[in-house]
Amino acid sequence: QTYTHHFDTPLFKKDVVINTGLFINNEFVDAADPTPIEVVDPTTGKVVTSVQGATKADVDRAVEAAQKAYSTVWGLKTPGTERARLLNKLADLWEAHMDELAAIEALDGGKQFLQAKTFDLTNGLNTLRYYAGFADKVFGKTIETDPTKFVYTLHEPIGVVGAIIPWNFPLMIMAWKLGPALATGNCVVLKPSEVTPLGALKVAELVRLAGFPPGVVSVLPGLGRSAGQALIEHGAVGKVSFTGSVATGRRILAASGAGNLKRVTLELGGKSPNIVFDDADVEQAIKWTAMGIFGHAGQMCSASSRIYVQEGVYDVFMQHMVAFAKSMTAGSGFDQDMTKIDPVASQAQYDRVLGYIQSGQKEGATVLTGGAPLGNTGFFLQPTLFGDVRADMQIVREEIFGPVGVVVKFKDEAEVVKLANSSEYGLVACVYTQDLARTTRLARELEAGSVYVNQMAIPDWRVPFGGYKLSGIGKDLGEYALEGFTNVKAVHVNI
Ligand code: NAD
Repeated sequence: QTYTHHFDTPLFKKDVVINTGLFINNEFVDAADPTPIEVVDPTTGKVVTSVQGATKADVDRAVEAAQKAYSTVWGLKTPGTERARLLNKLADLWEAHMDELAAIEALDGGKQFLQAKTFDLTNGLNTLRYYAGFADKVFGKTIETDPTKFVYTLHEPIGVVGAIIPWNFPLMIMAWKLGPALATGNCVVLKPSEVTPLGALKVAELVRLAGFPPGVVSVLPGLGRSAGQALIEHGAVGKVSFTGSVATGRRILAASGAGNLKRVTLELGGKSPNIVFDDADVEQAIKWTAMGIFGHAGQMCSASSRIYVQEGVYDVFMQHMVAFAKSMTAGSGFDQDMTKIDPVASQAQYDRVLGYIQSGQKEGATVLTGGAPLGNTGFFLQPTLFGDVRADMQIVREEIFGPVGVVVKFKDEAEVVKLANSSEYGLVACVYTQDLARTTRLARELEAGSVYVNQMAIPDWRVPFGGYKLSGIGKDLGEYALEGFTNVKAVHVNI
């Protein structure tokens, strides 16, 4: 089954055909017991099409195909140079289809086309090429122990990897999973989010065109509680690489614990501090902070959702932040206008974010700007900032995943470090200051997987990304991610 979407916008005009079945063994097939999943355009709130939802039987089928590919043509059977060639081929196809992929991200994810193209897909492309470069550089070490022994390590693939991804950066995160998993010789069964399944199905076509052997990559759209749960419980899946919420992360750990103790990498949520000191370049700090909390309508795991501003700069900072928030408008993802705010991804997310706004008001926080729906169609919300907040409020403690930030005035460094670290999360922290010594001190003191100085959080494919505390276990990206996709075997030869 296919769906043809007729894009007719100033930035992109084309009919794009998308397969809406399951991608197993390099073919698009019907689900065993198809449960249609409606795909909604968050810009309009209207149903675009539906895709088939995989069930447990389909997960079994895809895992079986992956096991077969692993033991016959992939894994240790394929030299690294061949895996590199195929990953580079996939990257070339990804690049050639970048406009199409960006348009699909705008359609089901509500992203801005230009943003998707220049950031998400460019990051994904670079990620694929970066890991292609590692495919023929997977090696262990020799270890000197005793003159009568020869000891060395082998870095072997795990086998079948389950990859589960969210809806906020679907294709970029798909590349974060595929790149290191395939470079190290694993097969991948990937489940995209039910909210944004279309892009992953398009990439599946590119996987086939690139020439990967059947079974090496499967793409199964489906609900978390059925397809996702079946994947994380499957006894032949050796590893789950997950990006999503803490609640699902806990389920994955529980399923691993109750089952085959599969390896897990969990990239989870955040409630990241954004600290602006009096000595900061205020204009830059405002620009980055605004993007950090309102970019993609705040649906970023690294969103700058707790904004701490030192008292000397507070008034001017807030004056500009509020003016910027008020200037943002709703509109199509195909506008060139960069003052546009994205919609949130779904009706459920819209209701959830509005619920948090109400909870903030009920708990006594002051709405400094925003606090209401925006426009007449789709899932748009006003960029919102709360003041007069207390550390125990829900809006300060929990990840909202919408364009909603809390603002707190602080006096000195010691106070703000304490406040910043008071969260259960620890994904990223952003610090704005011109003081180098302070930068170095804070980079050590802040409890976060990444610290960004004088810029918002922007993940780079060459640099590890992953949180402390509730924000996750393990790392995506960089050389570090490769460790999560290999088993290390020690070989002792008695000579
Ligand atoms: P989610 O946990 O609801 O869903 C993520 C994925 O998990 C989806 O594909 C979903 O279908 C699947 N899933 C749901 N229940 C499952 C189950 N029982 N078994 C297996 N799979 C299941 O998260 P979301 O709402 O899609 O994404 C938002 C969350 O992702 C936020 O918390 C955000 O911070 C986080 N996120 C983290 C990063 C990071 O790198 N740390 C990046 C992006 C998003």
